[in-house]
Amino acid sequence: MTRHITIVRLEGFEPPTLGSVDRCSDPLSYSRAGYLSYPVHVGPYHTVMSARELRDLIAHAAPTLTELRHDLHAHPEVGFAEHRTTEVIREQLSALGLVAAPTTMATGAVASLAGTRPGRRVLVRADIDALPVTETRDLPFRSTQPGVMHACGHDVHTAALLGVAEVLSRLEDRPGSFTFVFQPAEEALGGARALIEDGLLERHPCDAVLGAHVTSLVPLGVVAVRPGIAMSRGEAFRIVLEGEGGHGALAGDAGNVLIAAGHVLTRLREVVAGLSYETTPLVCSAGVVRAGTSPNVVPRRAEVAGTLRTFTPEQTAAAHTGLNALLAEIAATNGVRTRLEITGSSPAVVNDPHLTSLAAAAARSVVGDNHVVEMAPTSASDDIGEFLERVPGCYLFVGGALGDGTSGMHHSDDFAIEDAAVAIQAHVLAAAALALAEPPA
Ligand SMILES: [Zn+2]
Ligand SMILES: [Zn+2]
Repeated sequence: MTRHITIVRLEGFEPPTLGSVDRCSDPLSYSRAGYLSYPVHVGPYHTVMSARELRDLIAHAAPTLTELRHDLHAHPEVGFAEHRTTEVIREQLSALGLVAAPTTMATGAVASLAGTRPGRRVLVRADIDALPVTETRDLPFRSTQPGVMHACGHDVHTAALLGVAEVLSRLEDRPGSFTFVFQPAEEALGGARALIEDGLLERHPCDAVLGAHVTSLVPLGVVAVRPGIAMSRGEAFRIVLEGEGGHGALAGDAGNVLIAAGHVLTRLREVVAGLSYETTPLVCSAGVVRAGTSPNVVPRRAEVAGTLRTFTPEQTAAAHTGLNALLAEIAATNGVRTRLEITGSSPAVVNDPHLTSLAAAAARSVVGDNHVVEMAPTSASDDIGEFLERVPGCYLFVGGALGDGTSGMHHSDDFAIEDAAVAIQAHVLAAAALALAEPPA
């Protein structure tokens, strides 16, 4: 997720306690005993036999996937610099007999797997980048790279997609075909758009897109989905303020870009005040202020950078109008010039209702009926929206909170995810990929 701090809210949902998870499905057994103990549910995609086969394959792969995730976690790399990560992915793919397809990008990997019978073409995407954060939790597999950390769980995504590739390639009966996309640079760096502009969807045309984000905000073994708009459009902006500047002892308030920037900071939220989608508020907030070089010089220029989260094109247009009006007012009352620049964007994540219902049914077959919940839209963003803007599909959330309740927030230095989430995510994605690959009835 890109620069998110917003909690995924599960309306009307009581998180299961550790005790209640045990009844019909026990994903915790992934970590407790290294195998799966819950009963086999028949998904919309296959017979009892193939559901069992999939479960057994996941159980077999789970220990290796956990090791892989630990290795990736210990060696995090930020966006577009995921060189070692890419090597690991390529090695694992080639061990499965899958060849990474050529791209013009230095990092990331794409591989294809043919089905054994006709069906639809499914693209499954994982992001692989880490964040410029220093890990503070003393895990046995903590980051060995100072200042870099898998603080969003993309190590889990990478290992889980390798697990999906493994189990699907071992299944004897699989419809359609699959493209596994290991995408670099999700964290506000435009990796999805770069891959698509590199011709990914022309070289690997697909009928459906699938992905999942692990989350510390949802209990382990619970899957959260939402048809329609699930995540906001995220826009990065920069506001440039220019004024006369001058001697700190002589400058008045007029033309003072620092005072004007102060007004921008305190009034930004007015742009989206009272606006929401469903029950989720829109957000307009700043993360960077740049100005000044000396205590006794009023600078000529200041910058405020931040993000805007909206859900519909109408909301985006209204927020832009509001932001421009605010800047015009601040410029007029403070004797400065202001300019708004949109420096990056990630489209809203919009899930296709039909494919989402298929993916949710597949998820229920893995974690049990009681553990798939509908979530409220979140003002977090994810650039899988770039794929979903072009191809219908589904992006869902896989719970990975630590059992003791100490998982930190995504992007924070104490962020942590339960090991068992790797195999659960692989299982859910594999089952959902099979469901989406079935030919239409
Ligand atoms: Zn993320
Ligand atoms: Zn993130």
